[in-house]
Amino acid sequence: MSPKTLRFGLWALLVVLMGALLGSLVWLVGRYEQSRYENQLDISASDLAHDISTKLVRNAQRLNVLLDSETPNWSWTARQLLEEHPEIFRVERRDAALRTETSANSLYLRQASTNGVFHILGRQNFQSEVTAACALAARSQEAAYSVSYFIPQSNGIGYEVTDMCLPRIENKHVTGYLVVTYSLNGILKEWGEAATRQNQEVSFVAADGSRLAVMGKVTRSGHRVTAKTLLNLQGITLLLRLEIWRSAPYWLANTPTALVLLLVTALTGVLWLLYRDTRKRLRAEASLAKEIIQQRKAEEMSRQSLERLQKSARLATLGEMASMLSHELNQPLAAIASYASGGLNVLATEADKTQIKVALERIAAQSERAGLVIKSVHDFVRRREAEHSAVAPQTLLDDVLPLLGLLAKQMDIALDLQVAPHLPPVWCDKTLVEQVIINLARNGMQAMGVQAAKAPSLDASLRVLTLKAHQDATSDGKYVAFDVHDQGSGLTQDVQDKLFTPFFTTKTEGMGLGLSLCRTVIEQHGSSLTYTTQTQAPHTGTTFSFKLMTAHAILT
Ligand code: ADP
Repeated sequence: MSPKTLRFGLWALLVVLMGALLGSLVWLVGRYEQSRYENQLDISASDLAHDISTKLVRNAQRLNVLLDSETPNWSWTARQLLEEHPEIFRVERRDAALRTETSANSLYLRQASTNGVFHILGRQNFQSEVTAACALAARSQEAAYSVSYFIPQSNGIGYEVTDMCLPRIENKHVTGYLVVTYSLNGILKEWGEAATRQNQEVSFVAADGSRLAVMGKVTRSGHRVTAKTLLNLQGITLLLRLEIWRSAPYWLANTPTALVLLLVTALTGVLWLLYRDTRKRLRAEASLAKEIIQQRKAEEMSRQSLERLQKSARLATLGEMASMLSHELNQPLAAIASYASGGLNVLATEADKTQIKVALERIAAQSERAGLVIKSVHDFVRRREAEHSAVAPQTLLDDVLPLLGLLAKQMDIALDLQVAPHLPPVWCDKTLVEQVIINLARNGMQAMGVQAAKAPSLDASLRVLTLKAHQDATSDGKYVAFDVHDQGSGLTQDVQDKLFTPFFTTKTEGMGLGLSLCRTVIEQHGSSLTYTTQTQAPHTGTTFSFKLMTAHAILT
């Protein structure tokens, strides 16, 4: 399984789990609330049942007064009682054989007939119920009830009623009865009012589930909660039912649950946002990692190509060095030759020993220099670390001065040496750097010689070659800068383009290797050979410059 599908699977599992948990929570809360309502309703139902039976007993006690045949004004008393008890349709005083002696009807009935509620079917039609109730009453010597029965009325409706039979006991003998016809609806209306709160219904239900009497109005929407309880009376058991309809969902009725739900919803939102942000971040990180890998690859490639380049550069340098060897040996040899012929000349004219001595000494020095050149090139070719040492700039210039002075004299050029005071020693291969200075100075002098040949009218005093050593201003004292400045005609664009190309020369006896070798040596010293040039009169000329690191900077 790929990590992506696994992650998706985990997220899906989490969501399903959350959903299941929430669903269970809502369901449990719903059930809890429902059972709470049911319990409450059960309590109200049994309270109501208890209330009704208590009131029936109390009524029976009050009605006892009507049992007495001696009671004066029976009708008046009866009517009085009936007025107080709208739940009673009719009272009858009967003798021991259940024959009706006298009767009174509820004032609240519309029909003003002697039969009262029985005006359509007549009382005799319900004799069996009365007989059964009174038989029970006679046997138990207390109030007993008939099964409930329906009395149709003229307007198509009817009443469900039950007869209560109260026996008159005299010396343990039943001497008469009081039959009280109770309206079931009336009972609910008079005593069940309190139970019929908003959207609540209270009813008496038959065994088959049909409602015998109902009170209260309900809109049947939302959840229904019902409670049933039995109202046990002697002779009849009535099923009392309470029904309530709740429109608000149960779990909303419970504030903590609603809060938890809200919290969970908010949490889900937060989780979703987190998930989205994390995905974004991961994607960004992945693409960054990719970029870094690509960059590393590119770096690796460029490093490899750089190494290849350096290798070929070194090979080229080897070739250059071989050329340099011949080129540079040329100079001391030429010098030796010229000193030798100079010495011979002196010998031919006047035998001045001191002059010959000078010539011979210089020949010896030049021979030594030639030997050093061979050695340094040899070292270079063998790629051994060149012999670096700390050299004072003044020493560097002083040591090349005799040779340069000789050349300058030949070419009628003045040398100007400017070494700044207190310069720190530089770290270099002295022989190679001397060669560089000699090369640059000779080039400069040759450039001025060419210019002099072109325009001989120019004042010879103008032809000065300047050698300068000074602190490099840009490097925080870490470098000493060297400048070789001539007053030649400057470098034309054509010459500049090919200046460092090996074998490029404008001179008949030139080899075109000097500058490229100079540059190689300077680069070997971790610096670069630069130049500025001016071809516009009157101040034409060229300055070649390079820097050398101080021994102090190198060693720390
Ligand atoms: P070479 O001196 O043997 O000709 P270089 O490499 O030293 O070889 O110089 C190449 C060319 O650059 C010279 O031939 C010359 O034309 C030009 N050049 C070098 N230095 C100077 C200079 N200071 N002034 C004018 N031209 C110069």
